[in-house]
Amino acid sequence: MKVKIIKGSHQIGGCITEIKTEKAKIIIDFGKDLDEEKNVEIKGLTKGPPTYDAVFITHSHKDHIGLIDTILESIPIYVEPVSEKINHLLNEFTNPQKIKKQTLPFNYKESIKIKDLTITPYLVDHSSYNASMFLIESKGKKILHTGDFRNHGKKGPLFLKTIKEIGAVDLMITEGTTLGRKSEKVMTEDELSHKATEIFKKYDQIFILQASTNIDRITSFYKASLKTGKNFIEDLFTATVTTNIKNKKIPNPNAFKNVYVWLPTKYLHKDHQFKETYLRPLKKYCNKRAYEKNKYTLMVKTSMIEDIKKLYEKNRITNACLIYSMWGGYEEKEEIKNFIKGIKKYGIHDKIDLHTSGHASRKTIEILNKLKAKKIIPIHTTNAQELKAILNNVYLIKDEEEIEV
Ligand SMILES: [Zn+2]
Ligand SMILES: [Zn+2]
Repeated sequence: MKVKIIKGSHQIGGCITEIKTEKAKIIIDFGKDLDEEKNVEIKGLTKGPPTYDAVFITHSHKDHIGLIDTILESIPIYVEPVSEKINHLLNEFTNPQKIKKQTLPFNYKESIKIKDLTITPYLVDHSSYNASMFLIESKGKKILHTGDFRNHGKKGPLFLKTIKEIGAVDLMITEGTTLGRKSEKVMTEDELSHKATEIFKKYDQIFILQASTNIDRITSFYKASLKTGKNFIEDLFTATVTTNIKNKKIPNPNAFKNVYVWLPTKYLHKDHQFKETYLRPLKKYCNKRAYEKNKYTLMVKTSMIEDIKKLYEKNRITNACLIYSMWGGYEEKEEIKNFIKGIKKYGIHDKIDLHTSGHASRKTIEILNKLKAKKIIPIHTTNAQELKAILNNVYLIKDEEEIEV
């Protein structure tokens, strides 16, 4: 097999990996650079006669799936069904003009044959729900593409088990996201939930700014909310995601008595079809009862300053804080700065940072040595050098460079 990192050997996000034999040629992940809307043109994939046999997507984060709409019509795209659903909902709420791309589903541990390549997906712990890593095999050689991963989330224990199950590989392509960033202490999701409980005790109203697709985090905050006697209110998008995943353990208004829905003002101007599809099924959960004792947790978006104003005017903000639960780097964004500043007028002065990374910590990366990979290529990192210091057999590849396995 021949491997090429078309893009992403020295950047976080937008990583595109090509794996080929003489007969078959596939791509793993086709997403946008972080903060960039620019499309990427690849001959045989997005333009000209098709030369790729398939595209495999590890998870629903935009930097991995965000460009699949530009792939040539005849090339099959494999996406895990819940990840596909989340991506679809995100487009429906934020970019409804987008034409829906047909994708093919896969199941974990069920191999897919693409000519002389065999691709087996494995479930992996990440801040994106149902993320996958792929084992690619051909003529006795094995490549493991881990995608984005961690082992301190709800599915964390699975990681070591899977690594052992896969055993030695000829090449591992893995992420080093946290290595370039200043070292954050890595909490598990459960530790985060405990910390949240302590914070929630001090306030009556908790406003949470986090990614709606980070399901582990929603569960962590739901638990803290429950323990401190608060109702849990999800904004319409979050509630649409949690109900559509169809997992009874995930806090959602259909299955949980104390989970309610907030209908943000901005959706009132949406068209009839949007309202019928997304608003009507959840409207019954937009209930005054959620605020009865003025003790609640509300998932917010930066577009919800007007909504927060409404709550303030109804005296529903009396002893509140904002929990900022995303990577610190995003705080530089204008919309986030404006939001944090904007809500101060409405009684939310305290801002508390409570977050744990969606990516592998240094310690977790060390565990990869157990896999006994003959060669390791770091991607999705701005500090590949550091990965070399942690792991054996690391080869620092350049974008567009091809290596043989
Ligand atoms: Zn990523
Ligand atoms: Zn990711």
